[in-house]
Amino acid sequence: QPAAVTTTATELPHRAPVVTIMGHVDHGKTSLLDYIRKTKVAAKEAGGITQHVGAFEAKTSRGKVVFIDTPGHEAFTTIRARGANVADIAIIVIAADDSVMPQTREAIAHAKAANVPIIVAINKIDLAQANVDKVKQDIIPLDLVPEEFGGETIVVGVSARSGEGVEDLLEMISLVAEIADLRADPKAALKGVVIESRVDKQMGVLANIIVQEGTVHVGDFLVVGEKYGKIKALTNSVGDRIKDAGPSTPVQILGFSEAPTAGDTVTSAKNEHQARELVAGRTQDRRDVEEARKGRRLS
Ligand code: GDP
Repeated sequence: QPAAVTTTATELPHRAPVVTIMGHVDHGKTSLLDYIRKTKVAAKEAGGITQHVGAFEAKTSRGKVVFIDTPGHEAFTTIRARGANVADIAIIVIAADDSVMPQTREAIAHAKAANVPIIVAINKIDLAQANVDKVKQDIIPLDLVPEEFGGETIVVGVSARSGEGVEDLLEMISLVAEIADLRADPKAALKGVVIESRVDKQMGVLANIIVQEGTVHVGDFLVVGEKYGKIKALTNSVGDRIKDAGPSTPVQILGFSEAPTAGDTVTSAKNEHQARELVAGRTQDRRDVEEARKGRRLS
């Protein structure tokens, strides 16, 4: 007689890490993302019509890594401001010729507030003016003590131009992800986060989300804030129409009637009736809160 099978958190399948790249303007965030996209997204896919879904999946020797490619750290901060956390690891890019700048400090503060592990990528090491040692010294007062100085901060020198060090960076990401032991249940109730959305003149509302738990399927009813919609189409980061998507997958959803806001949480409903009731409940809750506030002001 086999023992009863119980599912514990440790038996859940692993999921890919979701990584955000932040740092000062011109320190090479876009270039680094471009280099990784160019070299780590399968050739057939990279050559096709890549769909901008706000994130892409890189294939590395140690598994998949999802990179959020919404410019700057806007996505990260707006999402965080709404109480959601989408990234598992933050890469802080610092140009080796410029070292720590105001937005570097800001980015580090955001990552620390979100309590996500930080990897420092010192970029532009190909430049003659590059001073990697200075950057390593400059981050110490920011509470990022490099491993070689007895601290815990992983620091990798890279060049988004030549590609030097990028392989090491990907390796470090996998290492940090392994330590974090990221897992999610593809069969759980759906939970996702909106990373951005826009209105396409022909197609309508397109919402880019990252699935965190559970699975989205074409035809599902989704609820986001006080809006709901039925998924008409799902597109992955290489532009393929797909039928479903599990944890740590970035997808574009067609089917909302109004654009959801970045940072909104996405859940699913069994049917349209339930979706409508959920939305009505939320609208009522919001009105109650507004009324209560008004009441307090008047008294
Ligand atoms: P972002 O504002 O952080 O996204 O920075 P960009 O990726 O737009 O890069 C700013 C400038 O630095 C561009 O002119 C890039 O070509 C250049 N750049 C980025 N990475 C490197 C690098 O590794 N080496 C050199 N020499 N230039 C780089």
